[in-house]
Amino acid sequence: MTDRYERVALIGLGLIASSMAWAMRRGNVADTIVGFAPSEETRKVAGELGFLDHVAASATEAVRDADLVVLCVPVGVMGAVAREIAPALKPGATVSDVGSVKQAVIAAVAPELPANVHFIPAHPLAGTEQSGPRSGFAELFDDRWCLLVPTERTDPGQVDRLARFWQALGSRTDQMTADHHDLVLAVTSHAPHLIAYTMVGVADDLRRVTDSEVVNYSAAGFRDFTRIAASDPTMWRDVFLSNKDATLEILGRFTEELFALQRAIRSGDGDLLFEYFSRTREIRRGIIDAGQDTDAPNFGRTK
Ligand code: NAP
Repeated sequence: MTDRYERVALIGLGLIASSMAWAMRRGNVADTIVGFAPSEETRKVAGELGFLDHVAASATEAVRDADLVVLCVPVGVMGAVAREIAPALKPGATVSDVGSVKQAVIAAVAPELPANVHFIPAHPLAGTEQSGPRSGFAELFDDRWCLLVPTERTDPGQVDRLARFWQALGSRTDQMTADHHDLVLAVTSHAPHLIAYTMVGVADDLRRVTDSEVVNYSAAGFRDFTRIAASDPTMWRDVFLSNKDATLEILGRFTEELFALQRAIRSGDGDLLFEYFSRTREIRRGIIDAGQDTDAPNFGRTK
């Protein structure tokens, strides 16, 4: 078995797929990169940008003879796409995905795939609020984690091979169970997105503050919420519908903490607030020490 996947098929050609293709080109990670997306416009743009060797006319054409197939589509359509490509998969191929939720994707995809392919779910923890084939760039995965979530059917040798693929794209890799993944991501990504959506919605509702004031004075902190709240609506609708339990559990805890802080503000409990904010500042320091963000003031922005 060679270590390299010679032919890689990407289904869906948005931010993640186009970034994977650019990173594969940069690292000379595959001989041939094929891709497919349903809209003619996306296929045309992908062809013009040139991150693929071949733009396929259908998902089944794209996966034919591929050694690695990566589903880069919204979580809610993963099962339907797996059903469509299943008859055309090459025996011995690896099928993976990049979905932001793992238990629901495994439940939808695993039953659709033939027994003679290796299914290795994965999730690169890298993204931006942009979407579509124009938004991708080769450096997206550099020094970011890609979590591999093998099922009990997965061959460990093939998991190592996929890990090396992601490392060649610039990522660090780790393995996790699907339920743990969904809980970790509910804390680090899904609940924060919902809170950002809510905060931006509140500002929009608050008629005593004008729209121009919200826009002009947003650098005071609000604009960081707006960046997150500008994320793709389809993707995030699917994330919340498919990681319901873990997200609701974290939001329940969030609400309790929020009430405790509200009570501290109302009763003038400065010690509690100071101790709480000191603890959160330490968490931020930990993120910087782990190389997952910059310590430059205001995220290194010049304005
Ligand atoms: P995106 O830029 O919106 O692209 C999604 C792609 O999926 C589009 O090319 C779309 O095709 C295609 N698609 C939609 N329905 C399809 C179907 N039924 N069959 C085949 N293709 C279909 O999304 P993305 O940000 O790359 O996200 C893709 C996946 O990565 C999602 O599962 C998401 O949870 C995960 N993820 C995202 C991020 C992030 O920050 N964005 C980070 C990590 C993981 P058309 O263009 O033709 O509509």
